[in-house]
Parts: sequence; structure tokens; C-alpha cells
Amino acid sequence: MTVSTLIDFGENMDKAQLVAKLPSYTKSILEALNAAGFEAYVVGGAVRDLLLGREPGDYDITTNARPEQVLALCQAKGWHTVDQLGQNFGCVMVVIDGCSTEVTTFRGESYDDSDAHRPANTWFCDKLEEDLARRDFTINAMALDIRGQVFDYHGGKADLAKHLIRPVGKAVVRYQEDALRMLRACRFVAQLGFDYVQDGVPGPACGMAGTPYYLAQVPHFPAERCRGLSLERVRKELEKLLVAEFAGKGLMLMLATGLLQQSCRVRQSGDYVPVPILPEAEHLLGLAQNPRFHIYDTWEHTLLAIDNSPRELAIRWALVLHDLGKGLSSVRIIKADGQPSDPGHEAQSAIMAEAILQRLRYGEDFCRLVVWLVAQHMRFAPMLLTGEKTLRRWLRHEAAHGPFRTQAQLVAGYKLLTEVFLADMGATHARENQQLMDEGRALGEQVIAMAQASMPIATQDLAVNGRELLALVPKNTIKETFAYLIERVQSGNLPNEHDALLAALKKKLARQERRPEKSNPDIAKA
Ligand code: ATP
Ligand code: MG
Repeated sequence: MTVSTLIDFGENMDKAQLVAKLPSYTKSILEALNAAGFEAYVVGGAVRDLLLGREPGDYDITTNARPEQVLALCQAKGWHTVDQLGQNFGCVMVVIDGCSTEVTTFRGESYDDSDAHRPANTWFCDKLEEDLARRDFTINAMALDIRGQVFDYHGGKADLAKHLIRPVGKAVVRYQEDALRMLRACRFVAQLGFDYVQDGVPGPACGMAGTPYYLAQVPHFPAERCRGLSLERVRKELEKLLVAEFAGKGLMLMLATGLLQQSCRVRQSGDYVPVPILPEAEHLLGLAQNPRFHIYDTWEHTLLAIDNSPRELAIRWALVLHDLGKGLSSVRIIKADGQPSDPGHEAQSAIMAEAILQRLRYGEDFCRLVVWLVAQHMRFAPMLLTGEKTLRRWLRHEAAHGPFRTQAQLVAGYKLLTEVFLADMGATHARENQQLMDEGRALGEQVIAMAQASMPIATQDLAVNGRELLALVPKNTIKETFAYLIERVQSGNLPNEHDALLAALKKKLARQERRPEKSNPDIAKA
């Protein structure tokens, strides 16, 4: 969805239309609570999404009924419930026809400095208004009743109309209370494409004037409060941001406010260890690139490349990290024409990417894949000028030395790499040259097709199985027989087809029989 597809959610938006969008299980809960004499509202993200014409991910309900009253009512209705009192204060999960809804009692919260995210005190309250006041942003602080009436005490509707993310109340206080809200702000910017505004005096501009990422005024965030947030929570928000439609805009806000440069923490052997989020990105801001190829500085080029790409985490991470090595003193040179260049930056970026992803506790397979994408991202462009032989040589090298255990993984890897390459190229002057972009796409398709047709890696990738080979060669040569066939298929002169593979093997064995002295003695015995 783009911002322009917003539906009309003005004052007179049809109430019946809003109610009609509620799923029946949500309506049943609202009606049951109302019938028992309680107030009940759909609240938070679902109201925001309904007013935006987006499909809500889930529906949360807020009510003045206490959890035990909610439980009793559900029991009377025969609805399954999960009492979450322990984990989430005042919240009962109601499951109807397999669909769950969180029903939470109106509550107030107070905070102290002991925790960067969780409230020190929580209490039940009787007023919807108080419950809405504790919520993070005006667009998340609205409630909707069963008649379609929207309760909006903080100007949420007006902010939706103006495409603004704005904290409820004083920003610095709200972020001092709960530091995660700063990351949520950036994440909502990334998901909705809205601008972020808050009270108080903003700081100076950030970025290149005229780009989609330019911030005329940077809001002040108490970014250092992130130090008390767990890596798990930070990563969850960062990942939601990275796969969002306007990820570049969200990342710009993170960098401009200093969040990206901050640390969060992880518990290790009983102690908290700081984990820097992504301070390595800061030097890209304002880092000049050769204007012959580039339209933006290195940071905004990175953001544009991210926004150009499919919304897949591995691709997005690869693009965040792909140019980190640029501008470093070991990489940057100034050419004879006075323009900067960063030869070999991809290798340096890959080293940095590995350290960053390990630090952020990504699993080994994910790390290896993303590091590979970063390391290889410059390989495609020169291939535009070479032939099939060079492509095959590259593929064979990566089949042998890349992070892939099977042909399917190799193909999937090259599909991702194609997207990384196109997104990167599309964030340079090449974007103005449709023919070049088409040639890039065609090259990607050619490599993927070659990987699919003729780049087996594991024995299972071959169109013959071990049993069939054992009928022709002794057991102790099976490994090298497989290796021989894989090598032949990879070289492009033998199709990976059952009959062709067996015929090729038989032919080789026959040759060896004729010239036993030159052949492998074990295979020759067969
Ligand atoms: P999403 O589409 O990601 O689910 P959401 O707005 O529903 O977005 P949730 O994390 O599900 O976000 O939270 C539900 C609601 O609870 C929010 O809309 C907001 O009103 C409130 N909320 C969530 N987290 C916070 C927070 N850290 N501080 C204040 N209010 C919060
Ligand atoms: Mg939600």
C-alpha cells in the first residue's frame, strides 16, 4: 500500500462501514461485554489500520471489565480463554473459532528509572481516557465501539490524515519511560511512510536536501536509554522496520536521532553485556561517491537500494551492510580525475557484516548467507560484458566455496543476489537507463537458470541415486563417482538427466577398461 491509497477517514466516515469491517469473533466479544453492562472497544493498531483501509494484523479489545469478569463471561459463553495475568497485566486471551483476541482491562502505568521498557507500577482504572493516555502514538491511541463511534482524545484521526506519527504527550517523558517507543516510532515511519513529529525544539537538518530521506529537522530522542533494552526487543523492531515498505525512511530516522549508533544489551552468564546496534553505518552519512555513477551519498544510496528491493530480511540486511566498507582509509582512493572510488569495498563490507550479524546474535546459516550476498554484490556488473563461460566459472566457484549445501540453496542464493544487485544498481544513475536495468535482470535470470539446470552440489542433487551407481561401481568408489558426475554436470557438458548420467558413467568405465593403467584402480575394478 502506498500513502496515496488512504481511504477517506474524515469525521463523517460511515460508522456502519467501520463496524462491518470487524470480524464476527471481535463483534461477539464486544456485544457480550456490552450486554453484561461493561464498556468494550477495539483499540490501538486495529483502529489505526481500519481507518487507514489496511487489514489489521490482530484485534485488541479494551474494557472496564476486570479480568475475572472477562473470564466468567467467556466461560458462560463457552469460549476458550488463556489467562495471561502473569505475563501481561490484566489481559485475557479469548479464542473463538480458532481466532484469538486479547481482552485487556483499562489500565494506568507509572515508570521509574529501574527499567528501560517495563512500567514500575500498573493498576486497573475505570476510564477509557486514562487507558488511551498511556499509549504510545496518537494514531495508536484511538478506540472504536460496536456502534462505530471512534474515541480519539489525542488527535489521532487528524494525524492519520496528515500522515504523522506523533507521541501522546511529551516525547522526552514518554521515551524516558519506555525506550522501546523510540524504535517503534521509527518502525511505524517505515511501515506507514508517515513523517515523525513531536513537541519541543528540534535539532538541525540531516541528509541531502531534495531526497526522499532528507529530514529538515531532527527530533531530539533520549537515544542513550536504548542501553537498557534487550537485544531481542530491539531486533524485533529493527526487523519489522527493515522489511517494511518505507524502510529507508525509518532507517534515516534511526540514524539521525542516534538510535542506530546506540547499544542495547544481552544477558550473558548472569551479566548484561552491551551490544552496539549499528554504529558502523554512521560514517556513510554524507560520504561522497563518484557522481559519474552515483546520485546520492553512500548512506542515502544505501537507503534507496533498500527501498528498491523485495521485502525479504536477508536481502534487506545485505543492502544495509553492502557498502559499509566504503570510505574507510584502507579502501578509499582518489582517482586521477579527483573523484573518490572504493575498490574492493565489498570484501571489507563482508568482514564488517559478519562481525555485526554475529554480534546481533543471528544464526550461523543466516550470517553466512548475508555475508555471501555482501561479498558478491559487485560480481554481477562486470558479467554484463562477459560470456557464458565466465558466468559458469563463477557459479562453479561459489558452488564449491560458497555457503551452500545443496543446489536448491545455491539457486535460492542467486535469486537473492540478483535482487541485491538490481536494487543496488537501481540506486545509481543506471536507474535512468531502462535498457541497462533490463539487461541486469536478464543476466540474473540467466545465472539462476544455469544454477538450476547444471549446478548440483550434493549427491541428492543428481538425477541418479547411490543404489543405481552401486550396480556399476564398488562401494569404496561411490564418493568419487558422485564427485565425477557432479563435476561433469557443473562443467556444462553433461545434462543432469538419469539416462545421460548412467550412460556417461558406463562410457567412462568402458574407457578405463580399455586403458586400465591410467584409470583409478578402484573404479577400474568395477
Ligand atoms: P502492529 O501492527 O505491529 O501489531 P500495534 O499498534 O497493534 O501494531 P502492538 O505492539 O500490537 O502494536 O500494540 C498494541 C497497542 O498497544 C498499540 O497500538 C499501542 O496503543 C499500545 N502499545 C504497544 N506498545 C506500547 C508501548 N511500548 N508504549 C505505549 N503503548 C504501547
Ligand atoms: Mg497489534
